[in-house]
Amino acid sequence: MRRDGLGGEWPSTRSGVWWALVGSGRWNRYGVAVIEELGARQRSAVVSAILAWFDEHQRDLPWRGPEVDAWAIMVSEFMLQQTPVARVLGPWRDWLERWPTPAALADAPAGEAVRAWGRLGYPRRALRLHAAAVAITERHDGLVPSDIDELRALPGVGDYTAAAIASFAHGQRHVVLDTNVRRVLARIDRGQAHPSTAPTRAEVVMAEQWLPRTRERAARWAAASMELGALVCTARAPQCEVCPVRTRCRWYASGRPAHDGPPRVGQRYEGTDRQCRGALLAVLRSHDTPVAGAELLEVWPDHDQAVRALAGLVSDGLAAQLADDHYVLPG
Ligand code: SF4
Repeated sequence: MRRDGLGGEWPSTRSGVWWALVGSGRWNRYGVAVIEELGARQRSAVVSAILAWFDEHQRDLPWRGPEVDAWAIMVSEFMLQQTPVARVLGPWRDWLERWPTPAALADAPAGEAVRAWGRLGYPRRALRLHAAAVAITERHDGLVPSDIDELRALPGVGDYTAAAIASFAHGQRHVVLDTNVRRVLARIDRGQAHPSTAPTRAEVVMAEQWLPRTRERAARWAAASMELGALVCTARAPQCEVCPVRTRCRWYASGRPAHDGPPRVGQRYEGTDRQCRGALLAVLRSHDTPVAGAELLEVWPDHDQAVRALAGLVSDGLAAQLADDHYVLPG
């Protein structure tokens, strides 16, 4: 066992945890309560170290500014769901310049939201954000709600997005479990290279144990743990040598063992239906007038795939078919 720089002792292997605790004489006779107590202290030290790192190293992202309102944060969360920060910065600014409030977006046709979504990908998010703006305007006097259940009831807002908006926009205390946070906790707390494919109940319980008690610290923890996962504890090349908590990380301490769960498959894009849909939608976005179906289908070499993709766009509400086999963005 070695002594780290954070005021505690940390064993170098998982079996070392067991023997260190036995040797410390801190067990009760069932060996439970003392582990909980020790775990809480260790977690608090890790949280403090990550918060201090965040204060110094966080990116200067525009949606983190003190003057940014809840709507701007909500728009950023929708855009960031499946798109990297670098690709979101420009569209986010343009979007808010055009629709600075939910009411402004609700007044526009849904098709304009799809058009403005541009190349962010997964354009159903644009439709859902538009629907959420309508709901906020109708049900909440045009203000993004602060209650997490009211947030969850909005179109396109799931558990993660509701918790993120409540934390980042309203400074509340919630578990915000995105991909980056899940990976950081899997490594530090579980000693695993990657979390399971989908979040489990046990993982949420574990994340709750990491949540600081005060609202302000919990909201900062949500942002800081996410940032550590985005910048340092990355999926493919974690930079443990510069990580502020490497002396407390179980995965690092146990020699960074390889992932032993189900194979992690990267998402292919070239030649997929998703790419085909994107190509068709790009044509509709570039036209202010209806486009003939035949003209649309020409943009993709595989005719059958294009027909299938076009039908999918229509059934998802991302395109509307007119009577004479012409297509437009939804009204
Ligand atoms: S030590 Fe490495 S694996 Fe552990 S939290 Fe830091 S970057 Fe991630």
